[in-house]
Amino acid sequence: MKILIIEDEKKIADSIKKGLQQENHIVDVSYDGTAGFDLASSEKYDLIILDLMLPGMDGWTICKNLRSEEKVDTPILMLTARGSVDDKVIGLNIGADDYLPKPFSFEELLARVKALGRRPKVITDYSLITVSDLTLNRDSYEVKRDGITIELSRKEFTLLEYLMKNQGKIISKDELIRNVWEYEADILPNTVEVYIGYLRKKIDGPFPKNKHLIKTVRGFGYKIV
Ligand code: CA
Repeated sequence: MKILIIEDEKKIADSIKKGLQQENHIVDVSYDGTAGFDLASSEKYDLIILDLMLPGMDGWTICKNLRSEEKVDTPILMLTARGSVDDKVIGLNIGADDYLPKPFSFEELLARVKALGRRPKVITDYSLITVSDLTLNRDSYEVKRDGITIELSRKEFTLLEYLMKNQGKIISKDELIRNVWEYEADILPNTVEVYIGYLRKKIDGPFPKNKHLIKTVRGFGYKIV
């Protein structure tokens, strides 16, 4: 495999490099976040081993930008001194494939490297949110259902995006007002209902009732499933 290590602790980086080379991998090392990001987005690697705390650009930003802006789908193994669950969740949410808390043994690292090398590549587009046959693209502001483009106003788009980001969860009217309308002064008591109505007409209207995605949960709010 061709592997990139982005790690500013020279001792760690060099010892991982040496170990991986002994396993017949081709290894590049960057001790700086920005330089590492440039390498990761311009060269083709089979795996990126990425430290979190880095000079120049931190590991979270590198990972997020590689996935969302550069569309790099190379498996990423994150290294960090912090082993908390929160960091792990954040790391995996922004597109890391695995996580290894420091300190670790080389055998542990090698096992992860092998597992990631075997993993089939899934091309994930992080600008795309999908619920059933409905897709929303956060970059192009395009919404499609069953392949057909649906025109939405800015507010309808923001509302749908919020529901889709929280798919399966019941979202109360208050939560929608807070997050979609952000306490705009001109909001009326029935504004949310009105906009949910607009969305329903466009998203679910052309489809039979058993295919409707936007649900009202009486007394609680709305959800999209
Ligand atoms: Ca570091």
